[in-house]
Amino acid sequence: SLYNEVQDLKGNIRVYCRVRPFLHGQHKKKTTIDYIGENGELVVANPLKQGKDTHRTFKFDKVFGPSITQEDVFRDTQPLIRSVLDGYNVCIFAYGQTGSGKTYTMTGPSSSSVEHWGVNYRALNDLFNISQSRKSYIAYEVGVQMVEIYNEQVRDLLSNGISQKRYPFVVLVLLDLRTLGIWNTTQPNGLAVPDASMHEVKSTADVLELMNIGLMSRAICATALNERSSRSHSVLTVHVQGRNLETNVVLRGNLHLVDLAGSERVDRSEVTGDRLREAQHINKSLSALGDVIFALAQKSPHVPYRNSKLTQVLQSSLGGQAKTLMFVQLNPDVESYSETVSTLKFAERVS
Ligand code: ADP
Ligand code: MG
Repeated sequence: SLYNEVQDLKGNIRVYCRVRPFLHGQHKKKTTIDYIGENGELVVANPLKQGKDTHRTFKFDKVFGPSITQEDVFRDTQPLIRSVLDGYNVCIFAYGQTGSGKTYTMTGPSSSSVEHWGVNYRALNDLFNISQSRKSYIAYEVGVQMVEIYNEQVRDLLSNGISQKRYPFVVLVLLDLRTLGIWNTTQPNGLAVPDASMHEVKSTADVLELMNIGLMSRAICATALNERSSRSHSVLTVHVQGRNLETNVVLRGNLHLVDLAGSERVDRSEVTGDRLREAQHINKSLSALGDVIFALAQKSPHVPYRNSKLTQVLQSSLGGQAKTLMFVQLNPDVESYSETVSTLKFAERVS
């Protein structure tokens, strides 16, 4: 397909930038978004600063302005989802400061109607629709895992209150993440997140139910630990296995959908204790992710997956034949200018 040709030319990493609109009541605010081009150009400027050299230009695979809908965004994401059914590993994640629209892009707003569904629901919905349309010749099975990574610890978001169905083709062993490398050499595809329960899903409704449980489990912890959700990474992993009914050939693909912790820098002189530890862990894992993607983009022989839990969990869908998409999320508000620039610099390094 055209998409695959483009991928071959460009490597397997693409970066989409998305600018969220001003929210209700913010219409009088000044924007830092100076220009959005048709071909992925973005110019930002600080409207409060005058003079030369105030404009910075960036170039991405695509830039989605504030009025772009969830459906439009998904149209440009869909080819990646389809390739999971053909046996590819795919990783899609949203990067940006808290409040920039990461959760909106990945999940959608809370109490979401179908129209506002984010990438996660649309992706799963697509997987089921396509697998349904191929059912006369391929039997697909889909399993999901949902974990949160907080302070370099992986927590299963789906372990409570659901009857856990054993996933037929993945042997779940309690493994320390350090042994993940062994799994990768023996089984590059269909890799499970160790320690996390796997749940077989047969329809979009099943997925909605599971994701609500996961989001709830995340929210419960958030109240206890004070808005922890913006300071943890959430990873939804979808495992797909398709068996060709005639040849019995089995294809495995997996999809990681990641809502990253907020990338904002905290002032080290102002935070202490737990908050400082959180900030250091976030910093470490986001830079580890940046380093991995940078190494892959450079086609470097050494890819430093082992520097964080996040990159270890995502390893199977970063690099090799895997396809990676990063949403770079921006808050257009002038008060966010310096965070916007640092987000864009992170993205520029890997694109
Ligand atoms: P983050 O997850 O990065 O902290 P959110 O996704 O929670 O940010 O977005 C912050 C607020 O902005 C939420 O109220 C969300 O509904 C809203 N928002 C984000 N992106 C959009 C968008 N593209 N269109 C409309 N509202 C948006
Ligand atoms: Mg969020």
